[in-house]
Amino acid sequence: MAFNQEAYKELELIVGKRYVTQDIAERECYRSIMAESSAHSGPFDGETPIPGAVILPGSTEEVQAIVKVCNKYDIHFKACTTFWSVMGFVGDEDSLQIDMKRMKKMEFHERDQYVIVEPYCIGAVVQVEAMKRGFNVNMAGVGCSSSTLAGASSWVAFGPSSCFMGVASENFLAVEWVLPNGEILRTGSLGSGGDWFCGEGPGPSTRAILRGTQGTAGSFGVCTRLAVRLHPWPGPTVLPSYGTIPAYKLVPQWNIKTYTLNFPDWDGYANTINYLSQNQDIAYLGHRQYNMWGRYIKLAMIKMLLDPDGQLADVPKYMEDPFIKEQTEKCRIDLQVVIVGMTKRDMEWKEKAIDEILRRVNGWKNEFMLQPEVQDWVALYLLRLGHKNLNYTLCSSYEGSGGLSNNVFVTSQVMEEYHQLREEFDKTHNGLAATGGDSEMGALSTLGGGGITGYEFFQWFDRHDRSSIDDCRDFIQNYSQKLCDKYGFGTDMGNWNNTARHPDTGYYYTQEEQNEMFAGAPQPYLFTYQFLIKKAFNPKDLCGSYYRTLDPACLKK
Ligand SMILES: Cc1cc2nc3c(=O)[nH]c(=O)nc-3n(C[C@H](O)[C@H](O)[C@H](O)COP(=O)(O)OP(=O)(O)OC[C@H]3O[C@@H](n4cnc5c(N)ncnc54)[C@H](O)[C@@H]3O)c2cc1C
Repeated sequence: MAFNQEAYKELELIVGKRYVTQDIAERECYRSIMAESSAHSGPFDGETPIPGAVILPGSTEEVQAIVKVCNKYDIHFKACTTFWSVMGFVGDEDSLQIDMKRMKKMEFHERDQYVIVEPYCIGAVVQVEAMKRGFNVNMAGVGCSSSTLAGASSWVAFGPSSCFMGVASENFLAVEWVLPNGEILRTGSLGSGGDWFCGEGPGPSTRAILRGTQGTAGSFGVCTRLAVRLHPWPGPTVLPSYGTIPAYKLVPQWNIKTYTLNFPDWDGYANTINYLSQNQDIAYLGHRQYNMWGRYIKLAMIKMLLDPDGQLADVPKYMEDPFIKEQTEKCRIDLQVVIVGMTKRDMEWKEKAIDEILRRVNGWKNEFMLQPEVQDWVALYLLRLGHKNLNYTLCSSYEGSGGLSNNVFVTSQVMEEYHQLREEFDKTHNGLAATGGDSEMGALSTLGGGGITGYEFFQWFDRHDRSSIDDCRDFIQNYSQKLCDKYGFGTDMGNWNNTARHPDTGYYYTQEEQNEMFAGAPQPYLFTYQFLIKKAFNPKDLCGSYYRTLDPACLKK
């Protein structure tokens, strides 16, 4: 089948010929291989289907008109903005890909401490503008080249700053949203004729329907504008840097300090996370970041990255350096924190608080990471999150697995077992980078008086090598998921999106297929509830299967 030509003519009238295309070469750019971390669906080796047409709207009115055409001709559509995730790509060949990159205005409201963003305002730009005004924004862990709106409106978006600034769902204020049926919904204070300062309005909260905790991943129409919270930033209005590519560093600031905390055991680690997340003023940012390269090579990797001529081939040489060897051993159980002083006294207090926590848990600050040049590099890395390319360094791709994000006192006790599991796996398989078992990376916590942590074990694989992909899948399905089952941690992170797309074709699942999948689920009412919501707002089921639904008629007795 081909894209409906009557509909195409109407789309041309809405945006003009320049901003809609059926050109095969341009459409081909809107596909994604699924062997990518962003899929979080296991590293399968297919590609998402090619869209029938691609359109770039320039305003909310144009988005609404486009969605109405889709409803008129029963065309599936999917909005996507910065495309870091496979979730935003279409699910069949006749679909319309709505690329939001033309909408990129933002509007600051300093007095009420929020900013209204359009889809293509990326984190880097929003943060730069916020800092000029003495504010900062929660940066999703996917990094500063991702869309602030896409994360905040549609997918998880926690990150290093979430311990201080909250996750996306906590930063989501009023919103303007074109629903799948073409109606425009304005929520919270905006919907009551007010301003954008509040996400909740009179009556039932539509915020929970549009967003919830996880987000609806483009399955609920198109978000066109969103207000997100601004948070205090006492640092410089422009971040001064020095050094050269690829290792820019922050010029030292009296009120910004970066430490890598080390612990003798996992109890010390868990207790520190508890202290820091119960006292959310201490850490401005908190992340277990560099462990993604694995417990044996992480410091050698940093050494290599700080050398402008450094290459991966140099890593073994750095690992032999006695100082790096010793410090790597001491850095097995670690956590990076950034403290930011609002005043001189506040800074002194935070320094003391960190020292006191370390004293209580018998921890220490890692000496390698205390070197000024390393500290300055880490500060810019964590504040800006502009190095997400490094998530792909070792062998072109990774899959986050495990997802030990529940109670840290429970999950931290499983770390060594998980570590052993990977080491055992490596004895009989060679498709995954042997980084030392523990390559667990993730954010300190969310808000909420010690909210959840968010960790993922990096499984590095070569996405161009069939056997490497197979090994990654094998590890997630047959080892990692089983460990999660054993401890009741639920779905392994590598399997989060398994029920959203066919692994081989990238097609979305039909309602009949979803009924089959969810009828026997332990808590099927979640899916029947979502079915009823979909029926009300998306009766033609036009936006794909990332919103899981179960027809109540199919409930098993
Ligand atoms: C290297 C890497 C690291 C990551 N680390 C983290 C992390 O630490 N924390 C975390 O939370 N996630 C992380 N992720 C997952 C990440 O959050 C998702 O990949 C992210 O949503 C994609 O970001 P994006 O901003 O490019 O959005 P897009 O890929 O553009 O879109 C994401 C979803 O939102 C929908 N969407 C986009 N724009 C709109 C719109 N205007 N209206 C309606 N729906 C829309 C899309 O359909 C899609 O489903 C990571 C991913 C990668 C690749």
